[in-house]
Amino acid sequence: MTPFVRQQIAAMSGYVPGEQPQQAAIIKLNTNENPYPCSARVADAVAQACHNGLSRYPDPSASAFREAASQVLGVPRDWILCGNGSDELLTIVIRAVVDAGQCIRYPTPSYVLYRTLAEIQAAECQEVRFTSDWTLGTDFVAPSDRLRLVFLANPNSPSGTMIPPSRVLEFAEALPCPLLVDEAYVDFADENCMDLVARCEKIIVTRSMSKSYSLAGLRFGYLVAQPHLVEQFHKVKDSYNCDALSIAGATAAIGDQTWLDDTRRRIIATRQRLARGMQELGFRTTYSQANFVWNTHPDVSVRRLYERLKERGFLVRYMDYPQWEEGLRISVGTDEQIDRMLTLMKEALQA
Ligand SMILES: *Cc1c(COP(=O)(O)O)cnc(C)c1O
Repeated sequence: MTPFVRQQIAAMSGYVPGEQPQQAAIIKLNTNENPYPCSARVADAVAQACHNGLSRYPDPSASAFREAASQVLGVPRDWILCGNGSDELLTIVIRAVVDAGQCIRYPTPSYVLYRTLAEIQAAECQEVRFTSDWTLGTDFVAPSDRLRLVFLANPNSPSGTMIPPSRVLEFAEALPCPLLVDEAYVDFADENCMDLVARCEKIIVTRSMSKSYSLAGLRFGYLVAQPHLVEQFHKVKDSYNCDALSIAGATAAIGDQTWLDDTRRRIIATRQRLARGMQELGFRTTYSQANFVWNTHPDVSVRRLYERLKERGFLVRYMDYPQWEEGLRISVGTDEQIDRMLTLMKEALQA
């Protein structure tokens, strides 16, 4: 027994993020980072914030970002809450709405962090399996007495697939509790659930600056919900959860929608190239709405392929969910990176 810590914590294994090797020579296609540098406005804004000095505490509610996001998203400022990455917002919402012994529901296979957060909160998990074509049946909204929060990554990871907004609204209306729609990848998708927030108070949308805005190293995300909920969530967050540099950088980034449109277009084009290339090598791919592609193979152990690629300096994500077909989740890199990866993959298949 470990002394001093809650039994709940000692018993859990803890979230294991994708490998983050610090050698620059590795080509990382394993944690869905953006291969392009962020908007040049970000470095200027961060430098300016440094120049202004860091002796004062930052704005506790990140007003500058909320103002800029309000313009871009067309939602009022007081519907927006900022976080130290969107992961922090998931923690804030759980802490605000779920007591120990109550239940959280989410689909599987999906973002593994939902389970970790539930364990920390001593909440029970109800896992609902996706159907084999990555859709969800009515068991996702089945009644349950202690259910307090439902998570839905949309687009989902690792599949990249999406539940259409009209279906998400039906889910929310059928549920007795909030439905948090985790839109970490939504900038790469055709549709999103932002408009549903005004139509249904149970819908909470979270977004991240990490993937589409190339700012995984900065740590900034935001949540959109009806203002009576945002007001409650605000009480749960750390007073200064976003620092002055990240607020300045994220505000500049969301203000540069031309950069976003450009980058998004490039990534979607390369996503096509990646999916087609993998199909030509005999893989099955899903129709991705994100910046990665989920690949399974009908007759080869993909773990071996992951290992061979790693030996050659290319990291992809090998995933082996319980009772699900193993697969490789490959992030969209530059065209050059993807072409090189496809060549190595072809060699690995022949070896
Ligand atoms: C990357 C990711 C996040 C976390 O994003 P951060 O803003 O970097 O914390 C949240 N949800 C999903 C599904 C993700 O893939």
